[in-house]
This record gives sequence, C-alpha cells and structure tokens, in this order.
Amino acid sequence: MSNFEVVVLGVGDTFSEKYHSTALLLVCDGFHLAVDCPDTYRSVLRDAAERSGRQLAISAIDHVLITHVHGDHMNGLEGVAFYKHFVEGKRLNLLTSPEVRSSIWNERLKASMGTLWNGSEFRELAFESYFEHVPLSFDSAITVGPFSIRSRRTIHHVPTSALFVEAAGRKLGYSSDTAFDPELIDFLAPADLIIHETNLGPAHTPYAELAALPPELRARMRLIHYPDGFDTTSSAVTALREGEILRP
Ligand SMILES: [Zn+2]
Repeated sequence: MSNFEVVVLGVGDTFSEKYHSTALLLVCDGFHLAVDCPDTYRSVLRDAAERSGRQLAISAIDHVLITHVHGDHMNGLEGVAFYKHFVEGKRLNLLTSPEVRSSIWNERLKASMGTLWNGSEFRELAFESYFEHVPLSFDSAITVGPFSIRSRRTIHHVPTSALFVEAAGRKLGYSSDTAFDPELIDFLAPADLIIHETNLGPAHTPYAELAALPPELRARMRLIHYPDGFDTTSSAVTALREGEILRP
C-alpha cells in the first residue's frame, strides 16, 4: 500500500454553513504539505483529526501551498504564519505560483502583518520575516520533501494553480478552483486519484460536465468544493467527506 496519503480537511465553498472551506493535507514519509489554508486552521485540523483518528497538528506543518488568493483558500495563512513566527520562532515555507507571490503580501497580508505596534514602538516586518517562498513553475516540476509537483494555470477569477503531485510512485491530480476545462482534464487524467472541484457560477465546474466524463475517469475522480445543497449521496462522481483519508 502507498504511504502517500491525502487528508481531506474541508470540502465546502466560501458560502458554506455545513463544511469547512476546501483544503487538503498531503502526507508522505512523515512530511506534511498543506494545500490551501482556510480560516481558523487549527480548528480545521482538530476536526479532521477527530474524524480520522489521526494526530494532526500545526507543529508538523512547515510547508503550505496556496493555490490562489481567494479568502476561502488562504484566510488562515496569517494565523499559521503568526504561529510559526511567535510560537515556534521559524518561517513558513510558502509554495505559490509567481503570480500569487506578486500579490499575496502587498495586497493581502501586509496590512495586518507588516507593521506591529506594541504601544511604544513600531516593528517593521517583511514577507521574508515570516515566509520562505518556494515558487511553483508552470514549465517544470519542483521537488518539496518527497513530493514532485507540477502545476498549471486554471480558468478562474484570479490566477490559480492546478496541481499534479507525485510521491512514493503514486500520482494525485488536483483541479483547484476552475471553470470546466477539457485541457485541464487531460493534464489531470494520468493521475491515480483526481480531486476535482464543482460549484456554481462561470468560474467553477458544473457537476453535469464531470458526470458526463468517461466512467473509467470518473472512477478515479472525487469531488470537492461543492455547495451545501449538493446531493452527495447519489452523484455519479463520489463526493469527498471531511476527515476522509485517501491513498492515491
Ligand atoms: Zn476561488
């Protein structure tokens, strides 16, 4: 059996009152790679730990990959980076595309993390005070711990990276947020396990498009990022559950 595991932390969307926001935790040989970082991240980990019976702790996570800057995918990053900085005294390895890197500090994090006032003096902190940037590449694979990661731009409101991750001889494809894109399906298709989003609106993938894919492909596919009203009991592609552990 493969020792590459995927812990499903959240399956919902930004409007959900039933689910955590979509997030995964990839684990192989004791190495943890978080894929996206929803708000109140420690409670997200705790809920998945209780459901899965696994020990899941922020102290084991030193690498976070952010697929794009929408809040449901990165609102927890500030808290995780503050935890690493103030509690553990270390920097967080942050994997993003160069496009995401160009906006994530100046347009998202700097307002709350850049200047700290203690009542008498100001302390100026930079991106590098909290993070070590590990750039994703659309041209070649990068290696992080046991993971080899290829990425591809998706069709979404803001720059977003789909992922193809290999470890321990197994392959995981992850669509990230995207409109339905046959070329992205081709990118993901060689994977042993494909996790694909579905939701409403022009920048997401309608369920009907995935349900119409060939049965052999659907059998290797699981759904994530679905709305609260999605019927998980009768879908033609199996919907993921929070706390589930997958072995690609
Ligand atoms: Zn999004």
